[in-house]
Amino acid sequence: MARVIVTPEKQAALSSEGASGYLTINLAALARNYAKLSSILAPARAGAVVKADAYGLSAERVAPALYRVGCRQFFVAQFAEAARLRALLSVDAQVFVLNGLQPGNEGPCAEGGIIPVLNSLEQWRSWRATAKRLKRTLPAVLQFDKGMSRLGVPLEERGPLSVETAGQGNVEILFIMSHLASADELDSDQNDDQLAQMKRIAEEFPRLDICFANSGGILLGKSYHGVLARPGIALYGGAPTTKGGNPMEAVVRLDVAVVQTRTVPAGAKVGYSGAHIAVSETRLATIAAGYADGLPRSLSGRGAVHYRGTRLPIVGRVSMDSITVDITALPEGTLKLGSLVEVLGPHQTLEDVARDAGTIAYEILTNLGDRYHREYR
Ligand SMILES: *Cc1c(COP(=O)(O)O)cnc(C)c1O
Repeated sequence: MARVIVTPEKQAALSSEGASGYLTINLAALARNYAKLSSILAPARAGAVVKADAYGLSAERVAPALYRVGCRQFFVAQFAEAARLRALLSVDAQVFVLNGLQPGNEGPCAEGGIIPVLNSLEQWRSWRATAKRLKRTLPAVLQFDKGMSRLGVPLEERGPLSVETAGQGNVEILFIMSHLASADELDSDQNDDQLAQMKRIAEEFPRLDICFANSGGILLGKSYHGVLARPGIALYGGAPTTKGGNPMEAVVRLDVAVVQTRTVPAGAKVGYSGAHIAVSETRLATIAAGYADGLPRSLSGRGAVHYRGTRLPIVGRVSMDSITVDITALPEGTLKLGSLVEVLGPHQTLEDVARDAGTIAYEILTNLGDRYHREYR
Protein backbone atom coordinates (compact mmCIF):
# COMPACT_ATOMS: atom_id res chain seq x y z
CA MET A 1 0.00 0.00 0.00
CA ALA A 2 1.31 3.45 -0.92
CA ARG A 3 2.68 5.42 1.99
CA VAL A 4 2.07 9.04 2.80
CA ILE A 5 5.57 10.33 2.35
CA VAL A 6 6.46 13.28 4.49
CA THR A 7 9.76 14.39 3.04
CA PRO A 8 12.02 16.83 4.84
CA GLU A 9 11.38 19.18 1.89
CA LYS A 10 7.69 19.08 2.57
CA GLN A 11 8.17 19.82 6.23
CA ALA A 12 10.60 22.61 5.36
CA ALA A 13 8.23 24.11 2.82
CA LEU A 14 5.48 23.99 5.37
CA SER A 15 7.45 25.73 8.06
CA SER A 16 9.13 28.24 5.75
CA GLU A 17 5.87 29.61 4.49
CA GLY A 18 3.99 29.04 7.68
CA ALA A 19 1.49 27.06 5.62
CA SER A 20 -0.18 24.08 7.23
CA GLY A 21 -1.62 22.47 4.15
CA TYR A 22 0.31 21.16 1.22
CA LEU A 23 -1.23 20.96 -2.25
CA THR A 24 0.75 19.07 -4.86
CA ILE A 25 -0.24 19.47 -8.49
CA ASN A 26 1.34 16.91 -10.76
CA LEU A 27 1.72 18.55 -14.17
CA ALA A 28 3.26 15.37 -15.60
CA ALA A 29 0.08 13.46 -14.68
CA LEU A 30 -1.95 16.27 -16.26
CA ALA A 31 0.08 15.87 -19.48
CA ARG A 32 -0.46 12.09 -19.43
CA ASN A 33 -4.20 12.60 -18.99
CA TYR A 34 -4.16 14.92 -22.01
CA ALA A 35 -2.26 12.32 -24.02
CA LYS A 36 -4.71 9.59 -22.97
CA LEU A 37 -7.75 11.63 -24.01
CA SER A 38 -6.01 12.59 -27.27
CA SER A 39 -5.43 8.96 -28.14
CA ILE A 40 -9.07 8.06 -27.42
CA LEU A 41 -10.16 10.97 -29.61
CA ALA A 42 -7.80 10.60 -32.55
CA PRO A 43 -8.21 11.66 -35.32
CA ALA A 44 -10.34 14.26 -33.49
CA ARG A 45 -8.37 16.64 -31.29
CA ALA A 46 -8.50 17.44 -27.60
CA GLY A 47 -8.72 21.04 -26.49
CA ALA A 48 -8.70 21.94 -22.79
CA VAL A 49 -11.19 23.69 -20.58
CA VAL A 50 -9.20 25.93 -18.24
CA LYS A 51 -12.03 28.10 -16.89
CA ALA A 52 -12.16 29.06 -13.21
CA ASP A 53 -8.36 29.19 -13.12
CA ALA A 54 -8.09 25.68 -14.55
CA TYR A 55 -10.60 24.29 -12.05
CA GLY A 56 -8.67 25.98 -9.25
CA LEU A 57 -5.29 24.55 -10.20
CA SER A 58 -3.91 27.74 -11.85
CA ALA A 59 -4.46 28.37 -15.54
CA GLU A 60 -1.07 30.06 -15.58
CA ARG A 61 0.61 26.74 -14.78
CA VAL A 62 -1.82 24.34 -16.42
CA ALA A 63 -2.30 25.97 -19.85
CA PRO A 64 1.41 26.23 -20.77
CA ALA A 65 1.93 22.63 -19.58
CA LEU A 66 -0.86 21.49 -21.92
CA TYR A 67 0.46 23.65 -24.74
CA ARG A 68 3.82 21.87 -24.44
CA VAL A 69 2.14 18.52 -25.09
CA GLY A 70 0.28 19.77 -28.14
CA CYS A 71 -2.93 21.39 -26.91
CA ARG A 72 -3.86 24.42 -29.03
CA GLN A 73 -7.50 25.09 -28.14
CA PHE A 74 -8.23 26.56 -24.70
CA PHE A 75 -11.70 27.30 -23.36
CA VAL A 76 -12.51 29.70 -20.53
CA ALA A 77 -15.83 31.03 -19.29
CA GLN A 78 -15.18 34.75 -19.17
CA PHE A 79 -13.49 37.46 -21.19
CA ALA A 80 -11.20 38.50 -18.30
CA GLU A 81 -9.94 34.92 -18.00
CA ALA A 82 -9.35 34.83 -21.75
CA ALA A 83 -7.39 38.08 -21.74
CA ARG A 84 -5.04 36.79 -19.03
CA LEU A 85 -4.59 33.47 -20.79
CA ARG A 86 -4.07 35.03 -24.21
CA ALA A 87 -1.03 36.91 -22.87
CA LEU A 88 0.51 33.64 -21.66
CA LEU A 89 0.22 31.56 -24.81
CA SER A 90 1.80 31.69 -28.25
CA VAL A 91 -0.19 33.05 -31.16
CA ASP A 92 -0.90 29.60 -32.56
CA ALA A 93 -3.01 28.79 -29.48
CA GLN A 94 -6.70 29.68 -29.67
CA VAL A 95 -8.58 31.03 -26.66
CA PHE A 96 -12.39 30.70 -26.61
CA VAL A 97 -14.90 32.41 -24.30
CA LEU A 98 -17.72 29.99 -23.51
CA ASN A 99 -20.04 32.51 -21.87
CA GLY A 100 -20.17 34.44 -25.12
CA LEU A 101 -19.82 38.01 -26.25
CA GLN A 102 -20.78 40.68 -23.73
CA PRO A 103 -22.00 44.06 -24.97
CA GLY A 104 -19.06 46.47 -25.02
CA ASN A 105 -16.52 43.62 -25.20
CA GLU A 106 -16.54 43.28 -28.97
CA GLY A 107 -13.62 45.63 -29.60
CA PRO A 108 -11.31 44.26 -26.88
CA CYS A 109 -12.22 40.72 -27.90
CA ALA A 110 -11.35 41.37 -31.56
CA GLU A 111 -8.22 43.33 -30.78
CA GLY A 112 -7.09 40.80 -28.19
CA GLY A 113 -7.31 37.90 -30.63
CA ILE A 114 -9.89 36.17 -28.41
CA ILE A 115 -12.53 33.98 -30.01
CA PRO A 116 -16.07 34.36 -28.70
CA VAL A 117 -18.54 31.51 -28.58
CA LEU A 118 -21.61 33.23 -30.03
CA ASN A 119 -24.65 32.19 -28.03
CA SER A 120 -27.45 34.18 -29.65
CA LEU A 121 -28.46 35.82 -32.90
CA GLU A 122 -27.80 39.15 -31.24
CA GLN A 123 -24.21 38.15 -30.46
CA TRP A 124 -23.72 36.84 -34.00
CA ARG A 125 -24.93 40.11 -35.47
CA SER A 126 -22.86 42.30 -33.19
CA TRP A 127 -19.71 40.28 -33.98
CA ARG A 128 -20.45 40.65 -37.67
CA ALA A 129 -20.89 44.41 -37.24
CA THR A 130 -17.59 44.56 -35.36
CA ALA A 131 -15.82 42.74 -38.18
CA LYS A 132 -17.30 45.15 -40.69
CA ARG A 133 -16.30 48.17 -38.62
CA LEU A 134 -12.73 46.90 -38.22
CA LYS A 135 -12.61 45.79 -41.87
CA ARG A 136 -11.30 42.43 -40.77
CA THR A 137 -12.35 38.82 -40.82
CA LEU A 138 -13.06 37.75 -37.24
CA PRO A 139 -13.18 34.15 -36.04
CA ALA A 140 -16.03 32.81 -33.92
CA VAL A 141 -17.72 29.66 -32.69
CA LEU A 142 -21.46 29.22 -32.93
CA GLN A 143 -23.12 27.42 -30.04
CA PHE A 144 -26.53 25.81 -30.16
CA ASP A 145 -28.53 24.93 -27.11
CA LYS A 146 -30.74 21.92 -26.96
CA GLY A 147 -31.34 20.11 -23.74
CA MET A 148 -29.74 22.48 -21.24
CA SER A 149 -31.55 25.79 -21.64
CA ARG A 150 -28.33 27.44 -20.60
CA LEU A 151 -26.06 28.90 -23.28
CA GLY A 152 -26.33 28.93 -27.05
CA VAL A 153 -28.77 29.80 -29.79
CA PRO A 154 -32.01 28.00 -28.99
CA LEU A 155 -32.57 25.48 -31.78
CA GLU A 156 -35.94 27.02 -32.58
CA GLU A 157 -34.26 30.34 -33.36
CA ARG A 158 -31.60 29.03 -35.71
CA GLY A 159 -33.63 29.78 -38.86
CA PRO A 160 -31.97 33.03 -39.93
CA LEU A 161 -28.50 31.65 -39.17
CA SER A 162 -28.30 29.08 -41.91
CA VAL A 163 -29.04 31.84 -44.42
CA GLU A 164 -26.86 34.49 -42.80
CA THR A 165 -23.87 32.24 -42.20
CA ALA A 166 -24.00 30.98 -45.77
CA GLY A 167 -23.02 34.45 -46.87
CA GLN A 168 -21.04 34.86 -43.72
CA GLY A 169 -18.87 37.64 -45.09
CA ASN A 170 -16.34 38.74 -42.57
CA VAL A 171 -17.00 36.32 -39.73
CA GLU A 172 -15.26 32.99 -40.01
CA ILE A 173 -17.11 30.32 -38.04
CA LEU A 174 -14.44 27.84 -36.96
CA PHE A 175 -16.90 25.21 -35.78
CA ILE A 176 -20.33 24.79 -34.26
CA MET A 177 -20.70 23.49 -30.76
CA SER A 178 -23.21 22.25 -28.22
CA HIS A 179 -22.89 20.89 -24.70
CA LEU A 180 -24.04 17.57 -23.30
CA ALA A 181 -26.26 17.69 -20.23
CA SER A 182 -25.77 14.12 -19.01
CA ALA A 183 -22.44 13.01 -20.45
CA ASP A 184 -21.32 11.66 -17.07
CA GLU A 185 -24.13 9.11 -17.28
CA LEU A 186 -23.10 6.76 -20.05
CA ASP A 187 -26.55 5.18 -20.31
CA SER A 188 -28.64 8.36 -20.27
CA ASP A 189 -31.15 8.70 -23.13
CA GLN A 190 -30.47 12.40 -23.15
CA ASN A 191 -27.06 11.76 -24.76
CA ASP A 192 -28.66 10.02 -27.76
CA ASP A 193 -31.26 12.76 -28.06
CA GLN A 194 -28.66 15.51 -28.03
CA LEU A 195 -26.49 13.65 -30.52
CA ALA A 196 -29.44 13.29 -32.89
CA GLN A 197 -30.15 17.02 -32.60
CA MET A 198 -26.51 17.83 -33.25
CA LYS A 199 -26.50 15.68 -36.37
CA ARG A 200 -29.57 17.50 -37.63
CA ILE A 201 -27.89 20.86 -37.09
CA ALA A 202 -24.73 19.62 -38.77
CA GLU A 203 -26.75 18.79 -41.87
CA GLU A 204 -27.94 22.39 -42.00
CA PHE A 205 -24.39 23.69 -41.75
CA PRO A 206 -22.61 21.10 -43.87
CA ARG A 207 -19.39 23.04 -44.22
CA LEU A 208 -18.85 23.42 -40.50
CA ASP A 209 -17.02 21.14 -38.09
CA ILE A 210 -18.46 20.03 -34.77
CA CYS A 211 -17.24 20.41 -31.20
CA PHE A 212 -19.44 18.54 -28.79
CA ALA A 213 -17.88 16.38 -26.10
CA ASN A 214 -16.76 17.32 -22.63
CA SER A 215 -14.87 14.73 -20.54
CA GLY A 216 -17.81 12.35 -20.25
CA GLY A 217 -18.69 12.81 -23.91
CA ILE A 218 -15.27 11.57 -24.96
CA LEU A 219 -16.09 8.18 -23.41
CA LEU A 220 -19.46 8.00 -25.17
CA GLY A 221 -17.76 6.94 -28.39
CA LYS A 222 -16.65 8.19 -31.79
CA SER A 223 -20.01 9.57 -32.85
CA TYR A 224 -19.70 12.19 -30.10
CA HIS A 225 -16.19 13.32 -30.96
CA GLY A 226 -16.66 15.77 -33.84
CA VAL A 227 -13.33 17.40 -34.73
CA LEU A 228 -12.54 18.80 -31.31
CA ALA A 229 -13.46 17.87 -27.73
CA ARG A 230 -13.53 20.09 -24.65
CA PRO A 231 -12.39 18.04 -21.66
CA GLY A 232 -12.01 19.70 -18.27
CA ILE A 233 -12.42 17.50 -15.21
CA ALA A 234 -10.74 14.43 -16.75
CA LEU A 235 -7.55 16.41 -17.40
CA TYR A 236 -7.43 17.24 -13.71
CA GLY A 237 -7.86 13.62 -12.70
CA GLY A 238 -11.59 13.66 -11.98
CA ALA A 239 -13.75 10.75 -13.10
CA PRO A 240 -15.37 11.58 -16.48
CA THR A 241 -18.38 9.41 -15.66
CA THR A 242 -20.28 8.49 -12.51
CA LYS A 243 -20.03 4.74 -13.12
CA GLY A 244 -17.36 2.41 -14.43
CA GLY A 245 -14.28 3.55 -12.53
CA ASN A 246 -11.92 6.38 -13.25
CA PRO A 247 -9.42 5.84 -16.09
CA MET A 248 -7.63 9.13 -15.37
CA GLU A 249 -4.52 9.65 -13.29
CA ALA A 250 -4.79 11.74 -10.12
CA VAL A 251 -3.28 15.20 -10.54
CA VAL A 252 -3.94 16.67 -7.11
CA ARG A 253 -2.76 15.59 -3.72
CA LEU A 254 -3.57 17.42 -0.49
CA ASP A 255 -1.91 16.86 2.86
CA VAL A 256 -2.81 18.90 5.91
CA ALA A 257 -0.87 19.34 9.14
CA VAL A 258 -1.97 18.35 12.61
CA VAL A 259 -2.02 21.41 14.84
CA GLN A 260 -3.17 19.77 18.08
CA THR A 261 -3.83 16.33 19.54
CA ARG A 262 -5.66 15.41 22.73
CA THR A 263 -7.44 12.59 24.51
CA VAL A 264 -10.99 13.23 25.65
CA PRO A 265 -13.11 11.19 28.07
CA ALA A 266 -16.47 9.62 27.24
CA GLY A 267 -19.13 12.31 27.12
CA ALA A 268 -16.82 15.08 25.86
CA LYS A 269 -18.37 17.42 23.31
CA VAL A 270 -16.42 18.01 20.12
CA GLY A 271 -16.65 21.15 17.99
CA TYR A 272 -19.36 23.77 17.50
CA SER A 273 -22.78 23.08 19.00
CA GLY A 274 -21.45 19.92 20.62
CA ALA A 275 -22.59 18.16 17.48
CA HIS A 276 -20.44 15.17 18.40
CA ILE A 277 -20.22 13.58 21.84
CA ALA A 278 -17.48 11.02 22.47
CA VAL A 279 -19.02 7.66 23.39
CA SER A 280 -15.81 6.44 24.98
CA GLU A 281 -12.34 7.76 25.64
CA THR A 282 -11.18 9.08 22.28
CA ARG A 283 -7.96 10.43 20.86
CA LEU A 284 -8.47 13.42 18.61
CA ALA A 285 -6.37 15.46 16.23
CA THR A 286 -7.21 18.92 14.96
CA ILE A 287 -5.98 19.56 11.43
CA ALA A 288 -5.37 22.96 9.92
CA ALA A 289 -7.90 23.23 7.12
CA GLY A 290 -11.59 23.97 7.17
CA TYR A 291 -14.38 25.22 5.01
CA ALA A 292 -12.41 28.39 4.21
CA ASP A 293 -9.88 26.04 2.58
CA GLY A 294 -12.45 24.33 0.45
CA LEU A 295 -13.37 21.40 2.68
CA PRO A 296 -17.14 21.79 2.74
CA ARG A 297 -18.99 22.09 6.03
CA SER A 298 -21.20 19.28 4.77
CA LEU A 299 -18.29 16.92 5.61
CA SER A 300 -19.20 17.45 9.29
CA GLY A 301 -19.53 14.05 10.94
CA ARG A 302 -19.34 12.30 7.54
CA GLY A 303 -16.00 12.62 5.82
CA ALA A 304 -12.54 11.42 6.79
CA VAL A 305 -8.83 11.94 6.31
CA HIS A 306 -6.24 9.19 6.03
CA TYR A 307 -2.91 8.42 7.56
CA ARG A 308 -0.83 5.72 5.88
CA GLY A 309 -3.98 3.93 4.84
CA THR A 310 -5.87 4.27 8.12
CA ARG A 311 -9.16 6.09 7.83
CA LEU A 312 -9.59 8.82 10.44
CA PRO A 313 -13.22 9.95 10.57
CA ILE A 314 -14.16 13.60 10.89
CA VAL A 315 -15.97 14.19 14.19
CA GLY A 316 -18.20 17.15 14.87
CA ARG A 317 -18.57 20.20 12.69
CA VAL A 318 -16.06 21.37 10.14
CA SER A 319 -14.84 24.81 11.31
CA MET A 320 -13.62 27.67 9.14
CA ASP A 321 -9.94 26.88 9.67
CA SER A 322 -9.85 23.42 11.19
CA ILE A 323 -11.35 19.97 11.32
CA THR A 324 -11.21 17.50 14.20
CA VAL A 325 -10.64 13.84 13.41
CA ASP A 326 -10.77 10.70 15.51
CA ILE A 327 -7.29 9.15 15.59
CA THR A 328 -8.03 6.38 18.08
CA ALA A 329 -7.38 3.80 15.36
CA LEU A 330 -3.71 4.78 15.24
CA PRO A 331 -1.14 3.68 17.84
CA GLU A 332 -0.73 6.34 20.47
CA GLY A 333 1.89 8.95 19.62
CA THR A 334 1.71 8.30 15.85
CA LEU A 335 0.45 11.77 15.05
CA LYS A 336 2.15 14.80 16.52
CA LEU A 337 2.12 18.50 15.97
CA GLY A 338 3.12 19.02 12.32
CA SER A 339 2.36 15.48 11.12
CA LEU A 340 0.62 15.47 7.75
CA VAL A 341 -2.60 13.62 7.07
CA GLU A 342 -3.94 12.84 3.60
CA VAL A 343 -7.10 14.66 2.52
CA LEU A 344 -6.73 13.89 -1.20
CA GLY A 345 -4.34 11.21 -2.35
CA PRO A 346 -3.95 7.50 -2.96
CA HIS A 347 -6.43 6.53 -0.21
CA GLN A 348 -9.06 9.19 -0.79
CA THR A 349 -9.98 10.48 -4.23
CA LEU A 350 -11.71 13.69 -5.23
CA GLU A 351 -14.83 11.62 -5.83
CA ASP A 352 -14.66 10.13 -2.30
CA VAL A 353 -14.54 13.58 -0.72
CA ALA A 354 -17.23 14.89 -3.06
CA ARG A 355 -19.53 11.98 -2.22
CA ASP A 356 -19.05 12.46 1.53
CA ALA A 357 -19.72 16.18 1.10
CA GLY A 358 -22.81 15.59 -1.04
CA THR A 359 -21.35 17.39 -4.02
CA ILE A 360 -19.28 16.74 -7.16
CA ALA A 361 -15.53 16.61 -7.73
CA TYR A 362 -15.72 19.86 -9.74
CA GLU A 363 -16.87 21.78 -6.68
CA ILE A 364 -14.19 20.30 -4.43
CA LEU A 365 -11.45 21.15 -6.96
CA THR A 366 -12.54 24.69 -7.74
CA ASN A 367 -12.80 25.55 -4.04
CA LEU A 368 -9.40 24.36 -2.87
CA GLY A 369 -8.27 27.47 -1.06
CA ASP A 370 -5.21 29.60 -1.54
CA ARG A 371 -3.87 29.09 1.98
CA TYR A 372 -2.18 25.84 0.99
CA HIS A 373 1.44 25.76 0.00
CA ARG A 374 1.36 24.76 -3.66
CA GLU A 375 3.92 22.69 -5.38
CA TYR A 376 3.84 22.10 -9.14
CA ARG A 377 5.71 19.02 -10.30
C1 LIG B 1 -17.10 23.28 -18.27
C2 LIG B 1 -17.39 22.93 -19.66
C3 LIG B 1 -16.74 21.84 -20.29
C4 LIG B 1 -15.82 20.89 -19.54
O1 LIG B 1 -16.61 19.91 -18.92
P1 LIG B 1 -15.96 18.69 -18.12
O2 LIG B 1 -17.14 17.91 -17.66
O3 LIG B 1 -15.19 19.29 -16.99
O4 LIG B 1 -15.09 17.95 -19.05
C5 LIG B 1 -16.95 21.64 -21.64
N1 LIG B 1 -17.80 22.43 -22.33
C6 LIG B 1 -18.47 23.46 -21.76
C7 LIG B 1 -19.39 24.27 -22.59
C8 LIG B 1 -18.30 23.72 -20.41
O5 LIG B 1 -19.00 24.72 -19.84
